[in-house]
Formats: sequence, structure tokens, C-alpha cells
Amino acid sequence: MNRLEFINTGLAIVGLSHFESDISMKTDPQLLIGKGSPKLVGKNYALLPEADKAFREMSAAAQKQGITLKVVSSYRSFEKQKSIWNRKFLRFKNEGMSDGAAIAKIIEYSTLPGTSRHHWGTDLDIIDAGPAEEGDVLLTEKFHGNGPYNTLREWMEMYAQDYGFLLPYTKDELRSGFKYEPWHYSYAPKSIPMLMQYLELDHKELIYSSDLNGRSGLDQEFLASYIKSHVMGINPSLL
Ligand SMILES: [Zn+2]
Repeated sequence: MNRLEFINTGLAIVGLSHFESDISMKTDPQLLIGKGSPKLVGKNYALLPEADKAFREMSAAAQKQGITLKVVSSYRSFEKQKSIWNRKFLRFKNEGMSDGAAIAKIIEYSTLPGTSRHHWGTDLDIIDAGPAEEGDVLLTEKFHGNGPYNTLREWMEMYAQDYGFLLPYTKDELRSGFKYEPWHYSYAPKSIPMLMQYLELDHKELIYSSDLNGRSGLDQEFLASYIKSHVMGINPSLL
């Protein structure tokens, strides 16, 4: 089986066979790490045109069920991710953590700059704009039980894949890496080939060429293990 057949078989397994996953598509490596100027579209968000089109179709379908999809995060640049990383690192250090503990705490939910799926214009965090927003909206409990986004979650679990969107950070307890994120969806027909290309990049470069807090703890050994556990610790349908 060649790589294209492999990808298409994978998409068929998750019910995405009607989507073309263009494995021959090559993305500028700079764009895969959140640098450069990607061509993105969207009103209150920024996505690749293909992902935006699918998202708008999915939104229209959700709307018919009274669910108003609202994107709270989509494309994020390397610089933006770096500011999130550096801010969290300082906060955890101020709470008395060691460098290693602070890094471990950050990567429960946040990525190292240059390794975020949000760099690709394929991934987004969504809520339902219907219920009133109170405080932090991206909390797991808000997507379950009596939470305001439980209906959204149930609808997305049922229909998102019809539009090409899959959850990378599933509830699967055997999965490594980032914690369960019921709000984060990825447009698989684009993000699968992008991840494949991304994994061939030299990740050391992107860490050591930037002024990241906690850099001394981000050695080659850490990076290799992080790529395996976190970058690849996703829904197998997206690998
Ligand atoms: Zn996210």
C-alpha cells in the first residue's frame, strides 16, 4: 500500500472516505511551525480555505439543531504560542515550581511553540454561542453532564466527522500527551498530511532558535519524548 492509499484507507475507517486527503500537497515548512504568512480566511477566526468551507457547512447544520458554533481559537502563530508558553512558565515558577515541574504543568494543555496544531489553520476550539459565557469556557466539565456545552459535544461527536472534523485529544485513557479537550477539533483532510510532513522536520532547530523560558529543560531528550507522547499522542484516526 502506498502512502496515499494508506491515508485514504485511514480516512475510510473513520468515515471520511469522501474527503480527498492530498498527500502530495506540500506545505512550506515554516508554516508548519507557525511562522511565515499563511493564506487564511474566516470572519471571527482564521482557517485554511478548505477547513473554513467545511466549518461553515458544519455550522449551518448545527444551527438547524439550535447550536451556534463559536470559534474561540483557530490559527495561532509561533509568536503567540511563545507568549502563552512564557507567561505560563513565569506563573508556575512564581508558584514555587522547578523548571521541570513548570514545563510538565504547561504541557498538560499547552504546546511548545512550533509544535501546536493551531499553527496549521486546520484546528479550532469551539463552544456553543447560545448559553451565556461565564469565566473560562474551555473546561471539560462544561462539555459534560449539565454543562452549557453538553449538547454541542453530543452533536459534534455524532456529526463532526461528516464534515471532516475529528477530535485529536480524545477521552481515551490509553492515549498519552495532552489532556482530553472536548472543544478542540481538527480538519482531518488537511491536518493528516500536514502532520506527516511536520514529523519529518528538524524540531531541535525551532526550539533552540527562539527565546523560550525554561529552555535549559528543553533538551533533545525532552523533545524526542515530547514529540512521541504529545504530538503523536492523538486520536489514531489523525495519524
Ligand atoms: Zn485547541
